[in-house]
Amino acid sequence: MEVTSSTSNFIKNIVKEDIDSGKHKEIITRFPPEPNGYLHIGHAKSIVLNFELADEFKGKTNLRFDDTNPIKEDTEYVESIEEDVRWLGFEWDELYFASNYFEEMYKRAILLIKKGKAYVCDLTPEEIREYRGTLTEPGKESPYRNRTVEENLDLLEKMKKGEFKDGEKVLRAKIDMSSPNMNMRDPIIYRIAHASHHNTGDKWCIYPMYDFAHPLEDAIEGITHSICTLEFEDHRPLYDWVVKECEMENVPQQIEFARLNITNTVMSKRKLKLLVDEKVVDGWDDPRMPTIAGLRRRGYTPEAIRNFCRAIGVSKANSLVDSQMLEHFIREDLMPKVPRTMAVLRPLKMIITNYPEDQVEMLEIENNGDNPEGGVRQVPFSRELYIEQDDFMENPPKKYHRLYPGNEVRLKGAYFVKCNDVIKDDNGNVIEIHCTYDIETKSGTGFTGRKVKGTIHWVDAKSAVASEFRLYEPLILDEGEGSEGKHFLEQINSNSMEVLQGFVEPYMKEVKPQDKFQIVRHGYFNVDPNSTEGKLVFNRIVSLKSSFKL
Ligand code: ATP
Ligand code: MG
Repeated sequence: MEVTSSTSNFIKNIVKEDIDSGKHKEIITRFPPEPNGYLHIGHAKSIVLNFELADEFKGKTNLRFDDTNPIKEDTEYVESIEEDVRWLGFEWDELYFASNYFEEMYKRAILLIKKGKAYVCDLTPEEIREYRGTLTEPGKESPYRNRTVEENLDLLEKMKKGEFKDGEKVLRAKIDMSSPNMNMRDPIIYRIAHASHHNTGDKWCIYPMYDFAHPLEDAIEGITHSICTLEFEDHRPLYDWVVKECEMENVPQQIEFARLNITNTVMSKRKLKLLVDEKVVDGWDDPRMPTIAGLRRRGYTPEAIRNFCRAIGVSKANSLVDSQMLEHFIREDLMPKVPRTMAVLRPLKMIITNYPEDQVEMLEIENNGDNPEGGVRQVPFSRELYIEQDDFMENPPKKYHRLYPGNEVRLKGAYFVKCNDVIKDDNGNVIEIHCTYDIETKSGTGFTGRKVKGTIHWVDAKSAVASEFRLYEPLILDEGEGSEGKHFLEQINSNSMEVLQGFVEPYMKEVKPQDKFQIVRHGYFNVDPNSTEGKLVFNRIVSLKSSFKL
């Protein structure tokens, strides 16, 4: 079931007013990732917001790569971002690259110089920082601030031609060194970087800074509402300054909202890249990663992610969302959709000593006990089975209703079995249990002779398919008080993945990567994309229940 996003939020209200007042006939939003990493669940919030806002008001949304920093960007990221946006269920109207506007941006920089609104500065990065002042003290003007227009034009051209080394010179906007807003103290708008760019190659060796480039990109595309996260609120005066002083025809409006934060989760691409580079995880799509690729490999569905993004809402107040809320939405999405099956994750051999040696019978088992429309499947049953290790205890505590010596339980969809004997290895570990079954107790025959308190699941040993199960815990430990200031790499959960070798029912041989199942008692599982017929791998998406209430 899709959660609708018909509820209002402050951004929708702004857009509605702009349409009602005739300020805009059509709105255009954009999703502007920098291709310096894979998208994460925080980006999903921004994607859902931008695309659905335009949708609701019959406008347009562009996907624009904000690729103005050659050093960190890569086409691998461009491709993954396009794939992830599509997979989330959104189709952009136009696909743009900010780097295609480099020529236009350069012309606007020249315009600023001609208007006396920009200058080339030779101060070193350290000096620029020093001259900037602090929140309580005004900055100092650069000695290069009053260069002539001609000199500035000449120097900018030389910068462009590659006549200076990285960091030797920058182009700065000439605004106000004593502004209470630090961003307005002659911000750098161009820097020199002799680096190859994924799109423009070696054509440029000067690159525009974000605060200069972004408003121009928005204005060039006719973006009406430029939605970004709260940390850009203080940059808005500069955004507006750039649009105005560069004499852009279209005037976009920047609107800030609170970024998504989730418990036990790091969300910045820089940190996620570190996890990949340090091999803490198995790549950007590791199922423990909060990336879209990771969530997909874990088994999340686009519906669940969209519903989550709608439910968390849009506001100006920073908040921390409980990671269980995301889990709630995947359970809710999968519960009615996916088939149920039995699997044994930690196998213990069970021999039914009074069951005929070579006999195999097919038992009919309901696919979904809660919904008869789910149909039935045939499951083989024979003398040797696997059950879950923790469904047997030699010395059980009180109220343990599963199997122990002398006790009888139901094998789900099959018979009552009673444990008579326990076989151990030389170290005293239980390696096999011997039971007898009662043919009268077959499921579905209406047997009422006696009752048992426990039902356990099983698979047939001979026909079951050996499979790997990967169970996940949060990658980042939340150590609560006292963990502030600690580097996140020191908070890695060393038990974030448990790998188990178990068995699934024989019909599961046919599964395909990304197929999803509810494995009774263990949770929802996804077939890993690298799973093969010879080696099935199941990722646990989420366990069956949580205490979390919406
Ligand atoms: P990161 O810090 O993870 O690198 P970013 O903001 O630098 O994120 P961009 O590629 O510039 O990443 O982001 C593209 C868009 O996604 C921006 O509009 C940004 O505001 C938005 N965005 C990024 N992270 C979040 C988040 N956690 N919650 C909501 N929106 C986000
Ligand atoms: Mg960034």
